[in-house]
Amino acid sequence: MRKPIIAANWKMHKTVAEAVDFCVKLRETVLTVSGVEVLVCPPFTALSPVSAVIKDSEIKLGAQNMHWEEQGAFTGEVSPLMLKEAGCDYVILGHSERRQFFGETDEVINKKARAAFAHDLLPIICVGERLEQREAGETEAVVTAQVNNSLSGLTAAQVDKLVIAYEPVWAIGTGKTASDEDAQSVIKLIRSLVAEQFNPASAEKLRIQYGGSVKPGNTAGLMAQADIDGALVGGASLDLESFWGIVKAVK
Ligand code: PGA
Repeated sequence: MRKPIIAANWKMHKTVAEAVDFCVKLRETVLTVSGVEVLVCPPFTALSPVSAVIKDSEIKLGAQNMHWEEQGAFTGEVSPLMLKEAGCDYVILGHSERRQFFGETDEVINKKARAAFAHDLLPIICVGERLEQREAGETEAVVTAQVNNSLSGLTAAQVDKLVIAYEPVWAIGTGKTASDEDAQSVIKLIRSLVAEQFNPASAEKLRIQYGGSVKPGNTAGLMAQADIDGALVGGASLDLESFWGIVKAVK
């Protein structure tokens, strides 16, 4: 009932020419799949050119970050209005690299999430514990605080459309994936938190992705878990064959 969503998070990779070339080929390939939502999240510079390539196709476009204001003196930032104009459907918010290297807090991520909805962009809100937090047995507490704070003040109708990505920080770009059971158990917790904070019906509609070293070979096991509705893919999304291997592994 929840449509799985596989997202390519290219991070700071691909020039405009490379992004366009990938999406021209992806567009041809995507015709052969149904029942999976396919999303590409290129760097800002490639958003508009990619939007032109995927126009009127099943492929969705997302940005990797944004500011919460519409405009203003915020050198180096990009606003929700600008993302909408560039053709974005989604925006990734609070990725652990944003939290770690750019000091983003749950409060900032919450402002961005509200701004995204106000501009008809669907947020993908990233949460996940660091290695030392997992080792200290703090995973549940960390993820609970991130979910509760980031979603604060959203309406149930917004939460219905929201995507959350559970990305244990120690699994990102390391080749270490959470076991299918560990990923399922945290993602089930996230769904129950949303049920408490909003309502059970919204929690059932909300899609929750797993992210962290997802590859064609480990996708089917993760996707077979009851609460996992897709993947946020970094490294393995840069190559069309491996990204497509992941999309095809979703049943
Ligand atoms: P990875 O990155 O697939 O390279 O681990 C995932 C992410 O950071 O979203």
